[in-house]
Amino acid sequence: MGEKKMADKFKAPRTSELEFGGSLGALLLLFVMPGTVLYLLLTCDTDDASVLRLPGPLPPLESLWSPYAVTLLLGWVSLQALLYALPMGKVTEGTTLRDNTRLQYRINAFHAMLVSSVLVGVSLLLKLPLSYVYDHFLQLAVSAGLIALALSIFLYIKSLGAPETALAPGGNSGNPLYDFFIGHELNPRIGGFDLKYFCELRPGLIGWCLVNLCFLMAELELRGSVSLAMSLVFGFQTLYVMDALWHEEAILTTMDIVHDGFGFMLAFGDLCWVPFTYSLQGYFLVTHPQELGTAAALAIILLNAVGYIIFRGSNSQKNTFRRNPADPRVAGLETIPTATGKRLLVSGWWGLVRHPNYLGDLIMALAWSLPCGLSHILPYFYVIYFSALLIHREARDEHQCMKKYGLAWQEYCRRVPYRIFPYIY
Ligand code: NDP
Repeated sequence: MGEKKMADKFKAPRTSELEFGGSLGALLLLFVMPGTVLYLLLTCDTDDASVLRLPGPLPPLESLWSPYAVTLLLGWVSLQALLYALPMGKVTEGTTLRDNTRLQYRINAFHAMLVSSVLVGVSLLLKLPLSYVYDHFLQLAVSAGLIALALSIFLYIKSLGAPETALAPGGNSGNPLYDFFIGHELNPRIGGFDLKYFCELRPGLIGWCLVNLCFLMAELELRGSVSLAMSLVFGFQTLYVMDALWHEEAILTTMDIVHDGFGFMLAFGDLCWVPFTYSLQGYFLVTHPQELGTAAALAIILLNAVGYIIFRGSNSQKNTFRRNPADPRVAGLETIPTATGKRLLVSGWWGLVRHPNYLGDLIMALAWSLPCGLSHILPYFYVIYFSALLIHREARDEHQCMKKYGLAWQEYCRRVPYRIFPYIY
């Protein structure tokens, strides 16, 4: 094959099927995503925290913006960047790229969480006012949004100089607005520093746990003790984050890393949306305390445990199978062959529904909201939004699997008719 033909073969194809409503949808989401964060936090700040109330006028600029909040966040991101760059943890390879190369990734997010926990422990001993985060949460959220916007602009400009082989299959439509939103370059790096991989699990996810701890401290300051409801939310969400960090390697095969580029959608999602909306239950509980009896607490713990077992069991089963189908833990499972040579699991967790991992994740999401009682919808935002996200993500994945596996996928759908909820959906 000639050199030119060879180079063309490695180029990312033009994205022909636009998602999220194309460029108009992308434009809308550029405003809807930050608007939703503002709306949720402002509503949560009101006495009745009612979603039926119409959004009021924006608060004055000084409530939204503080250079100190920006500095604090930049300090946090820099600390996480430093921990990522330290030579601790093993180095592994990602999936094979279009040009047949594989990028190297350092697996040390769990280490970063441990070091961060020690530093937070020291700040507690030094009696640093962690409740600052609660008191200035809106300013911190706005700062995170601005940092994400600045990063997305940088990423788009950087992508214009990237070779065509480095572009994302999902963000190469030629429409600047759409590509800016989805992300034009697949794995933007500065030297060996992978910007997308870094943002996916570290500043936002570890930050989410820290934010929850700050809410716990704010509750302690306000009422002299930590409520059972707050402890459950803190415990459940910390377990979820630690699990994600412990299984960091699994992220290398997700849609986010393999298909989507790094643009506004992921930058805003990772740095602002996750830490400032996933933590809404804790934020709500500080000023809207809820009585939670022991029996109810035990039932919620059980629900979270069921969700976690399904979530972890199914994700690990598939990861083990994809890494080594002959592994004794999965070798006995029934499978369907596909034309690509890969097989599809059709028994075990993946014989229950076509996305058992989403089912487990959604059950846990419900368990995180229940400690906030049944009087308000606001703390249920996560489970409602997450259901919509996973139903949409499931449809995206089905579409990709249908393209990849054709008849074998149809056979899988016939054998396992439900997508996420057994006998329902
Ligand atoms: P999945 O882990 O569900 O991966 C889907 C892929 O799995 C398919 O493309 C296919 O890829 C493979 N697959 C599908 N069915 C089978 C089968 N029967 N046998 C073998 N392989 C199969 O993708 P996600 O990245 O969406 O989810 C990973 C986890 O992350 C989930 O638990 C999800 O809930 C969670 N998540 C959490 C989010 C959050 O904000 N908290 C956001 C998004 C996800 P192939 O055949 O090519 O291997």
